[in-house]
This record gives sequence, C-alpha cells and structure tokens, in this order.
Amino acid sequence: MSTPPQTASAPSLTVLIVGAGIGGLSAAVALRRAGHTVEIFEQSTFANEFSAALHVCPNATRVLSRFGYDEARLRGVRCDSIELRAPDGSTLSTASMDFVPKVYGAPWYLCHRVDLHNELERLAFDAAGEGTPAKLHLRSKVASVDCERGEITLASGEVFKGDLVVGADGVHSMVRTHVLGAADISPSPSGHSAYRFLVPVSRIAADPMLAKYVPSASKPTMIIVSSAEKGLVLYPCRDSTILNVVAHHADHLSQRNSERADWNAKTRSVDELKQTYADFAPELHRLFELADDIKMWTLLDSGALETWIKGRTCLLGDACHPMLPYQAQGGAQAIEDAGALGVIFGGGIAITAADVPARLRYYEFVRKSRAEATQQFSRAQSVKESPPPADPKAARDAVQKFLFSHDVVAYATQALSALFIPSTIVADGAPPPANGTASIDGGDK
Ligand SMILES: Cc1cc2nc3c(=O)[nH]c(=O)nc-3n(C[C@H](O)[C@H](O)[C@H](O)COP(=O)(O)OP(=O)(O)OC[C@H]3O[C@@H](n4cnc5c(N)ncnc54)[C@H](O)[C@@H]3O)c2cc1C
Repeated sequence: MSTPPQTASAPSLTVLIVGAGIGGLSAAVALRRAGHTVEIFEQSTFANEFSAALHVCPNATRVLSRFGYDEARLRGVRCDSIELRAPDGSTLSTASMDFVPKVYGAPWYLCHRVDLHNELERLAFDAAGEGTPAKLHLRSKVASVDCERGEITLASGEVFKGDLVVGADGVHSMVRTHVLGAADISPSPSGHSAYRFLVPVSRIAADPMLAKYVPSASKPTMIIVSSAEKGLVLYPCRDSTILNVVAHHADHLSQRNSERADWNAKTRSVDELKQTYADFAPELHRLFELADDIKMWTLLDSGALETWIKGRTCLLGDACHPMLPYQAQGGAQAIEDAGALGVIFGGGIAITAADVPARLRYYEFVRKSRAEATQQFSRAQSVKESPPPADPKAARDAVQKFLFSHDVVAYATQALSALFIPSTIVADGAPPPANGTASIDGGDK
C-alpha cells in the first residue's frame, strides 16, 4: 500500500481525487489552497480533453477568481450579446449582455475547454501557488473505492489510502456506484443529442458568404438558431480565433447509434449533419463544411441521487449531478462544488481525519439542493412549457439570476458558521445538518 509521505509541517489531510476533468482539477486547486496534500488519479494520458468550447458563467468565474486564475491564459471571450436567428439566417432579436459583469460582479466567458483545463492544471500543479502542489498520476484508472476507509485500488492493483476521497470521475462514475450501492441511478439518454465542432475564424473570414458569422471584436455574440426539435448555438472562444458550434436535436432526427457519451465520441460526417439540418440556410451548410472534426454526443440526464457522500468519500461534478447543457452549467456546478470543499475543509481550523465524515455532511448540505435545482432548470429548458410562461423574459431573467448570482464561497462560509460545531466535538455519527433548518440568506450577489 502506498501512503504519501508526511513531514512535521505536512498539511492535515491526505486527499485522493479520482478524475482530472474540470471538477477534479478544481477540487485539487481548492484543497491544495486549503492546506492539504492532494493526489489526483486520472485514467487517461491527458491528451484527450475534448476539442470544444464551454460557457464559464459568473458563478464559476467568481470561484476561479478566488483560485487566482490568469485571465490572459484563459483566453476567454466575454459573452456581451445574444442574437436569436431563424433557420433561414435572418435575425429575430438581439439582447445585450454587457451588464453581466457589472450586475453580477464577475465575467461570463466563452472558453476553449483545453484552455480552461490548462489553467486549472497550472493552478493545481504549479509550485508557485498557495499550499503544496497537487500530484498527478496519469494512466491510473481507479478500479474500486472503500468509501469508509478512504482507500482506492487502481486497475494495476496498487492501493492508496487517504483521509478524504473525492469522486470526480464524470457521468459514468465508478465511485458513484460505491457511494450509492443499490440506490445508484445511472444517467440515461434524454432523447436529445448534440453534434459539436470547431471552425477556425480565419476560414470563416475567407468566405464572403459567411461574413455575418465572423465574431465581432467590439461585442462578442452568442448566436442561437432554433426551430422545432433542433437548434444551433454558435459562439467564439480562444481570443475569438475559433467559432464553437453545438447542434442539438431530438434523437430521431439524426442517425444516432448507441455509443456512450464520453470523450471518445465518434466522428460524424458533414453530410449527416447537413441532412439533420436540411431545412437550415445554405450559409449554415457552408459553415458545416469548414468544420475540422464533427463529434456526436448523446445528452444524458439523471434524477436526484439519494446521497453524494459515504464515510470519507464524496462525489463531485458530473459524477453526482450530470445535467443537460441547455443552461451551460455542468462545469460551472462542478467548480462550485470545488469552491464549497475549499471552504468546508479550510478556514484555518485544524481538521483531523476523524472530522471528515461530518464535514462531508456540510458539503452535501451546501451543494446538493442547488445542483439539483440547476439540473431541473436545464431539463426545463429542453421542453416547451405548456402553457408558456406569461412573461418569458421575466422567467428567463429569474433563472439567470439564480444561476449567475450565487457566491458559493460566501454561502458555504455562512453555512459553516451557522452550523458550526467545534471540530473537537464533531465526531462521525453526529447528526447531519438537516436541509433547510439553517437560516442562510447570504451568498447571492
Ligand atoms: C454538449 C455539451 C455542452 C456543454 N456545455 C457546457 C457549458 O457551456 N458550460 C458548462 O459549465 N458545462 C457545459 N457542459 C457540461 C460539462 O462539460 C461537464 O459538466 C463537465 O465537463 C463535468 O466535469 P467533470 O470533471 O465532473 O467530469 P469529466 O469532465 O467527465 O471528467 C471526469 C474525468 O475522470 C476521469 N475518469 C473517469 N473514470 C475514471 C477512473 N475510474 N479512474 C480514473 N479516472 C477516471 C476521466 O478520464 C475524466 O478525465 C456541456 C456538456 C455537453 C455534453
């Protein structure tokens, strides 16, 4: 059995994180900064972070700011405007979003996934950061977890023992099956899929037919093209040098096979894409032809899990709250989870191994209901409400406020102080904080 070496000045806990996606890396940054010894176990070689972009919404950039992220390295593009277009390419409406950083106190970025991943890696592993750099084990598939003992066993047979295990192993989580046992719910296909691809802006700019798809330097815009049962979402990333396209649709419209939705999703043909969007404007078909590599994703969804924690093990990110992408919040919620862990296992108070199970109950208390509400908002966005809301804009604004305004670090700090029992008398077996019993009104901007 391998145990990371401890020295006289070693941080109080040994943390083992399964999975080095957005969630696992964010947890490593938060827990390293909280003063713990962190080891991450990643099954891949790290060469396969998916070539696509994502929204990094203000509720996530607020946490990243506390991590000390470098804006220039992230190469994000601010989402200053949203334009709705009809399938024939005509503009239906435009809404300015440049109020977002002012109102919410944090930017809304459109980022290449690889850029976000690289920046999180730097924050987790760089010697210059706060705390001890996390240690990364690549090609280290975790085969099983003993949740109560805090032990993980690799596929190679090697065993590691920690005080805290974080299961950040994504939508097909192995750790989840150990945390939930018979109560496990595997995510299931939602009936929707999405093609994802990137187009270099230099290619778009070279084609006069595509002039209105060249990102605006002064007001970067997300374009949404929608019709019944399908739509396109287009936005720039990486300093506006790349246009990201998500083409979502009801499954029966494409020739979907039953492959799993993961980072090895299969390449699809331009002809298939054109066929699925046959009634969309010729200029959009021209844009499809410029794509480098078109992948298809089955969009998975899951109901609420009975619990996210067992013994000294917790779940984080898609492992416990996979969600449809329609609110662009899956990664953001994983970053919020990490922000909460940093508070609950931080705060300058000595935390012993015996405190971990009780601390995890605070984590679940702070995070589970918010992530589940976000799952529901994402699901609701995928269906036409019947009857439609009386004031659709007011309904959309209210959801945006719920998502964007949350300050998970402030919320967790307040929750911890409202519920705090000194660590000396918190023992495993102490009653968990009951949802809704504490009065926590802070946390939102
Ligand atoms: C079409 C689409 C668009 C999206 N758009 C957005 C968006 O705009 N904004 C947003 O915030 N989110 C978005 N999301 C969601 C976001 O991509 C996910 O929520 C996020 O990637 C989850 O991160 P994670 O770290 O929890 O999981 P993952 O990124 O899946 O990482 C899990 C990691 O664990 C590793 N792993 C798995 N099993 C093991 C094992 N047994 N041992 C060791 N390692 C293991 C994997 O190799 C992987 O590296 C979108 C998703 C889709 C499908």
